[in-house]
Amino acid sequence: MPLKIIEVQAKSIFARTGIPGASYVINQYVGCGHACLYCYAKFMCRWKRHGEWGSWVEVKVNAPELVRARHVEGMVYMSSVSDPYQPVERDLELTRRVLESMDKRIQLRILTKSDLILRDLDVLREFKQLEVGLTVNGFEGEVKKLFEPNSPTHNARVKALEKLREEGLKTYGFISPVIPHLVNVEELAAELEGLVDFYIIEPLNVKLCGGRFLRTLQEVSPRSARMVRDLEGYMRFQETLRKRLEAIGVKGLFVRHYPKIHVCEL
Ligand code: SF4
Repeated sequence: MPLKIIEVQAKSIFARTGIPGASYVINQYVGCGHACLYCYAKFMCRWKRHGEWGSWVEVKVNAPELVRARHVEGMVYMSSVSDPYQPVERDLELTRRVLESMDKRIQLRILTKSDLILRDLDVLREFKQLEVGLTVNGFEGEVKKLFEPNSPTHNARVKALEKLREEGLKTYGFISPVIPHLVNVEELAAELEGLVDFYIIEPLNVKLCGGRFLRTLQEVSPRSARMVRDLEGYMRFQETLRKRLEAIGVKGLFVRHYPKIHVCEL
């Protein structure tokens, strides 16, 4: 299915956010061609009537000008309802132009699933307070096709972190979504050792991943689905994981969504 591209003029670009640790989010795109089945941002379809999540992307064509006009204090998180390096970015270069236009003193944390970010190393190097993260979860084969059909492979993401690190940028590994019996956090953390400055580890948000994802999970790995549906058991799993990670010296943040969102330092 071809991706529907909707060009819009935005009124503003830095949006205040309740995301723990961040003051603002910036979404030069809304919608995402990576089309991850578990994506927490698909609630946007309730307001944006463009079709199924993953089939459309809104492009804020004036985002570079809006960015140029403002300086903000505090952490800016790019992005929350899109991936800044999703496939359309290859041709549109909107994220690149946003970064070029941005005040380089801004405290910026970028998150992507794509090694396309390496194209913009020249601009990224200019930022004074930048953290660049790649989502890593080790999905492969049929599971990758079902859960994350359009994003780059695990190896491409690890290689991107390697290159970013070689270039002297501050990097992090976003290990997410952690799904019991499917994602081995300790193995992934070990694989990224030396490539990242810190980790952000986030167990699956069962409330936001959606019924279609949970049904697919049930088919792919019934014991994983059983565990995430048993809220008490799932909370115990998360606490045990957090303690294990602390015990082996993994440094970073652990993000839990139950009973309410809670971020703790590892
Ligand atoms: S890359 Fe991120 S924003 Fe895009 S579909 Fe996947 S989870 Fe959602």
